[in-house]
Amino acid sequence: MEKIKCKYCGTELQKVLLPPDSDFNCEYLYVCFNDECGYYVRGWDWMRTHYNVTASYRYKYNPFYGDEGPIPVSSPYTWKDLIAKT
Ligand SMILES: [Zn+2]
Repeated sequence: MEKIKCKYCGTELQKVLLPPDSDFNCEYLYVCFNDECGYYVRGWDWMRTHYNVTASYRYKYNPFYGDEGPIPVSSPYTWKDLIAKT
């Protein structure tokens, strides 16, 4: 399978298995879990400035719809327990 990489940092994305009740309407997504990723690092400041909340987002790719964009996180650990073990 072709490896999908983060548009911002070049790190290989990891597969996240979503819970059945998620809003994404699909089984899994690919997410950049690099804690040094500029997109994610800048997100904390951006969210505080614009929404006054402690949150950020990571780069994600949805292979079902072919769309990419942010997936919200409230801590460095959000979603990490759902990473698929391959
Ligand atoms: Zn990244």
